[in-house]
Amino acid sequence: MADSVYQPESGLSTESSLTSEVIAEREHWLIRMRWLAVAGMFGITSFARWGLGVGLAVTPIFALAALVAGYNGLLWLWLRRRDRLGPGQAPQGDLRIMTNIQISMDLLVLTLVLHFSGGVTNPLAAFMVFHMVISSILLPRRDSYCQAAWASALYIALAVVEVMFPDLHRPMLGYMTAADAPAEITFARPLYVAGECGMLTVTLFLIVYFSTDIAGRLREAYRRLAVANGELAELEKTKSRFLNVAGHQIRTPLAAMYSLLESMQFAAGDLSETHRDLLGRVKHRASGMMELVNEMLVLSSVKEDVRTLVERQPVSVRTVLESVEQLHRESARAGGVELVVDADSDAEVLTWYNALTDIMGNLVSNAVKYTPSGGTVHVTSQRKGHRVAITVSDSGIGIPPADQAKLFGEFFRSHNARQFAGGTGLGLSIVKETVDRLGGRITVCSDTDCGTIVRVELPTV
Ligand code: ADP
Repeated sequence: MADSVYQPESGLSTESSLTSEVIAEREHWLIRMRWLAVAGMFGITSFARWGLGVGLAVTPIFALAALVAGYNGLLWLWLRRRDRLGPGQAPQGDLRIMTNIQISMDLLVLTLVLHFSGGVTNPLAAFMVFHMVISSILLPRRDSYCQAAWASALYIALAVVEVMFPDLHRPMLGYMTAADAPAEITFARPLYVAGECGMLTVTLFLIVYFSTDIAGRLREAYRRLAVANGELAELEKTKSRFLNVAGHQIRTPLAAMYSLLESMQFAAGDLSETHRDLLGRVKHRASGMMELVNEMLVLSSVKEDVRTLVERQPVSVRTVLESVEQLHRESARAGGVELVVDADSDAEVLTWYNALTDIMGNLVSNAVKYTPSGGTVHVTSQRKGHRVAITVSDSGIGIPPADQAKLFGEFFRSHNARQFAGGTGLGLSIVKETVDRLGGRITVCSDTDCGTIVRVELPTV
């Protein structure tokens, strides 16, 4: 997907800028934060006025809160309309303009709230710092400095007006008495106010300087990560294609060799005992190779998303579990393992034909294979809201804790499993890829002393 990118004229390179989709996502976050701020303006003002008895000018603060709610609602509608246009379709510069407008409006409202609640003596002015951090994250560096200049200008204007026209200053009576009000001291000493304005201005510019620097580095790291991810995905696809081509090339002659070996076994009467034994071993090896090639082909088709070309259909979990039980009943009996399937859920999963059978078949086959004679394999399914949880637990050899993070990697087989039974190390990779494609989750809980529990959670129809 080609992402649209904005902010070419900042100090940062275009490459290191964020995609507009990421910024739109953060805009949604900003809008949610602003709803909180509106609730805070109503809530805190009411509490201070009527709960603590602070002499706040409630009406203008409520009017400002309503104004913020109004423009926040409009912004939300605008962003939703923009989202509907889809990635890359919306104009690129509009996000930047809207972000500048809303941060400027927020700063203006904050200054007016300060004016109606104690003026420059109100510590709420610290919130300007928060706006500078937001600007640095969302806007190009130059715009962030402009916002710092706008915030400083608003604060200085507020201080100048209050010092020059003390009647306009509205101390928070009740919060501070006339005797101890810093307002008294402050307004007696304009130099103090000037110092405060200077400190705030310097702080805002420094914050923008540091935040844009950090944000720039993060954007660059994010870009590099995205490039590396893209390259990895491409490599992965090449590998899958290679596996697919190689698998098909190997499978045809292998199948022919296998059927020749079978024909030779029919004629085994003409062979000596040693030759019959050798023939059996060759056939065993060939069947192992067939299994490997088939799993390589399944894995590459899952990775290349071949199945997604086929439409999904609702598949009953119970039907799949019953057919998997039938398929493995014989091998379980042969290995002396008790296989119990409690398919008590009527859940249906929207899936590609055979995908659920592949998942469950692999898990049950592993559980049976890695459980010594006398052990048990238990399969259950349970519906939970819009998901179904299928659990395969066994009392087998378990998986060493150090290996558990590597289980879904291709060709991985743990040491104890190698000693216990043959395998390709591809089954769980297929399971993981398929579960991911179906929007599910797989977890493994195991210990070498007490067996393994594999749990698959899938969304239901
Ligand atoms: P394999 O063909 O080796 O069974 P899988 O991909 O299905 O390949 O499984 C990968 C590895 O995970 C196995 O080799 C084994 O080490 C471990 N494993 C998977 N399931 C179990 C289980 N139920 N009990 C013990 N080990 C298991």
